[in-house]
Amino acid sequence: MIKCNFNSGPAMLPTEVLQQVAEAVLHYKNGESILEISHRSNTYHEIIDEAKSLLKELCNLNDDFEILYLPGGASNLFAMIPMNFLSDKKYASFIDTGYWSKKIIAETNLVSNAKIIASGELNNYNKIPENFEVDNNAEFLHITHNNTIEGTQFDTIPKAEIPLFADMSSSLLSKEINYNQFDFIYASTHKNAGTAGCTIVFIKKHLLDKINIDCPSVFNFRKNIEANSIYSTPSVYAVYVSLLMLKWMKKETLSKIFLQNKLKAELIYKTIDESKIFNNSVAKNNRSPMNIVFNCDSKHETSFLEFAAQQNIINISGHRSVGAFRASMYNTMSLNCVEHFANTMKNFELTF
Ligand code: PMP
Repeated sequence: MIKCNFNSGPAMLPTEVLQQVAEAVLHYKNGESILEISHRSNTYHEIIDEAKSLLKELCNLNDDFEILYLPGGASNLFAMIPMNFLSDKKYASFIDTGYWSKKIIAETNLVSNAKIIASGELNNYNKIPENFEVDNNAEFLHITHNNTIEGTQFDTIPKAEIPLFADMSSSLLSKEINYNQFDFIYASTHKNAGTAGCTIVFIKKHLLDKINIDCPSVFNFRKNIEANSIYSTPSVYAVYVSLLMLKWMKKETLSKIFLQNKLKAELIYKTIDESKIFNNSVAKNNRSPMNIVFNCDSKHETSFLEFAAQQNIINISGHRSVGAFRASMYNTMSLNCVEHFANTMKNFELTF
């Protein structure tokens, strides 16, 4: 039986995508491997241009946005965003929803002042803060839309007069979202949009005039746009895998993928809610459909992990900072695997 890989990222890739990647490593075009083609060749331009145009189409982006594929992960953006837009005289505001928002807050504090306008810390990050006041003097408001480690997600997007920035690493292309209400969005490719190696950025053009002139060129969003995302030699391979994933999503259709994601999440949350041994502490309206975090009495943890592994269910340990369990169910995770996982949870409970 195929392994059901619930890893929080890199995510599973569809078999047909893996086959295309394997073929491209041996031979892509004109006798060259995808690992060998020049990033300045027309062959690569066709890849990145098609990936960007598919992102625009699938996310329904309006013409106000520039799209970038930047090297490295979302953590690079935690440093780049303050370098581009902040200084000791310009500050930004943040909603602290856990581990990844704390990371960008820490990077921001190296060059500026990160003003936390609301935090879920007192609620153990089990709830997304509500009823906060937006600081309209800040340069922007930043949210982590889906919290991969805490298993939470914003159910309503805050309204702000200032630009709205969002880390969507674990929610991009996972469900119907109006991306045009944001001014800046970034997401590592290795969850719903490919493999590790690059980060997708959507940036509204009006922000380009606000970039600090002393921002180093390789980190400068404007210079990366002018260079069509090849300021430095990119990971052609990672962008190619991302293109294949976007093509796969278009072929499968987003409506089908989004419905399946909803059914998968409903099934696992229902299984947990009906269970006498498993528990999820997240506020119901903030439950993430992508990353389901749950626990049981710690004395049963190892035996559940072993029981699941015997059923070909892998990578369900919680993040090292919180422990317990986490089932990440990105777009490629099949409903079959999720049904198998739900049955495995129930069967484990029957062994008591
Ligand atoms: N933000 C979120 C929401 C994440 O889940 C992660 C982990 N992939 C990151 C940022 C950091 O991403 P990376 O490992 O690509 O730097």
